Amino acid sequence: MNQKTVEEANAEAEALRRLYAGKTLTPAEKMKIPAQEMPNQEASVRARNMEEVALGYSEAQAVVEASRCLQCKNAPCVKDCPVHINIPEFLKAVAEENFKEGLKVIRRDSLLPAMCGRVCPQETQCQKNCTMGKALKDVDKAVSIGRVERFLADNVEAEPVKTAPETGKKVLIIGSGPAGITCAADCRKAGHRVVICEALNKPGGVTVYGIPEFRLPKKIVEKEIENLKKTGVEIRTDFLVGKTRKLKDLMEKEGFDAAFIAVGAGLPVFTGVEGENLVGVFAANEYLTRSNLMKAYDKDRALTPMYTSKRVAVLGGGNVAMDAARTAVRMGAEKVSVIYRRTEKEMPARKEEVQHAKEEGVEFLMLKNISRIIGDENGRVRQVETVSFELGEPDASGRRSPVRVDGSEELLEFDTVIIAIGSRSNPLIRQTVPEIQFNEKGNIIVNDNMETSLKNVFAGGDIVLGAATVISAMGQGREAAKAINERLKS
Ligand code: FAD
Ligand code: SF4
Ligand code: SF4
Repeated sequence: MNQKTVEEANAEAEALRRLYAGKTLTPAEKMKIPAQEMPNQEASVRARNMEEVALGYSEAQAVVEASRCLQCKNAPCVKDCPVHINIPEFLKAVAEENFKEGLKVIRRDSLLPAMCGRVCPQETQCQKNCTMGKALKDVDKAVSIGRVERFLADNVEAEPVKTAPETGKKVLIIGSGPAGITCAADCRKAGHRVVICEALNKPGGVTVYGIPEFRLPKKIVEKEIENLKKTGVEIRTDFLVGKTRKLKDLMEKEGFDAAFIAVGAGLPVFTGVEGENLVGVFAANEYLTRSNLMKAYDKDRALTPMYTSKRVAVLGGGNVAMDAARTAVRMGAEKVSVIYRRTEKEMPARKEEVQHAKEEGVEFLMLKNISRIIGDENGRVRQVETVSFELGEPDASGRRSPVRVDGSEELLEFDTVIIAIGSRSNPLIRQTVPEIQFNEKGNIIVNDNMETSLKNVFAGGDIVLGAATVISAMGQGREAAKAINERLKS
């Protein structure tokens, strides 16, 4: 941890917990309670391992942090959480040390609190307009809702899921990311037989192959998958719908009554600049998948060799770029530079991830873009030509648009380039199920019931929203399950 050790932070929290125990605090008193910092692994240590960076609140820290909640009547936090968890209610339960009840309140709306507590962009969602943060004029002093949520998910055993008697109906789920898992769980709970088909050899979607171990340990996702299997959900891995079997063929021959498409948006976008096909240029998705799914970072257990890099350029400013840069640090690169064409203020990555990347030694080259990648005589990356930008008028996204500065080209020495400028949906479903309508961005069009233009076929998550978040994908899975369960009643 940066300033205090884990023991010091816990001892301070224990003292505060005893001080406030059993007292009804006024808003003014609550405002004086210090916001609890998250204990982290030391930057110089964690940059050399793949273990989780954030160590989690102790029980005393969770209780003290929850006691800061002002229990606002028109709670802005609830409106800003994509699945509208009753945040004041669960925080009150934690402040009263009723942890079981706290988790129960969360699980009414979210099936994946251990994941969301860790990876939700809270500063732009539930914590953005928190009254405590506003009162203290600092968004970083908002109640740390996500951290308390993570504490509950990690430390309280969830009640086992009870499934309704078998209905004899069958639901097909395509894709096992947060949207697919959630829809599967809710359909199974209603008593339907559920089969998930997953293209990769491990279920979990981006939470397994994209988000690195040091932010989201894989055992957390594995536990959710195990719980799902225990309820009777069948998972077929290495099953690419559209290639292994087509959707309509599966539905007709195996008698599925409904299907839910949750195939995500995993197709990387490239820049198109000269030199992008050189050896040493990777899409972030490929780089992270090798590291995560094939454990390329673990030389003794690696299922695939990892490209050895000394100087790595990462293009982009989102969470994917931060994950790729921080993975490259852990893979032993001597220098890792993030190249982004706007400034830090416009970066879409979570603030905490940018801060962690900086602490781990990642360099940020702002207001720059790659204009050319130059190779050596063996076709391997040797240099990158960058061009500078300045900020102009706001564009459609509301962010100031980058304007190229003529004559600002510069050659920088790199042997690896990782492209992390976005992703789109894979066209396989579009090509193999012509009845389903897509928009111009390649996302599936659904009605208010999450149903596609093909009857009894529903869709949700990134394939509908475009690259979004774990919690919004989960929320869509839940909405679709509700609509499917309603349909199958009739
Ligand atoms: P996915 O998680 O993409 O799952 C789709 C699954 O479908 C995959 O397993 C895929 O293999 C499978 N599939 C695809 N096509 C087929 C087919 N034809 N047949 C069978 N299976 C198929 N969000 C956050 O909230 N916080 C973060 O910090 C964050 N960091 C991220 C970091 C990275 C590197 C990436 C890539 C994304 C990140 N996201 C983050 C976004 C988040 O992970 C996604 O929004 C979320 O996972 C989408 O869920 P989903 O279920 O729609 O799809
Ligand atoms: Fe508590 Fe903040 Fe939500 Fe108010 S806005 S109820 S203080 S978490
Ligand atoms: Fe906040 Fe995410 Fe939890 Fe909602 S699910 S309360 S946005 S951390």
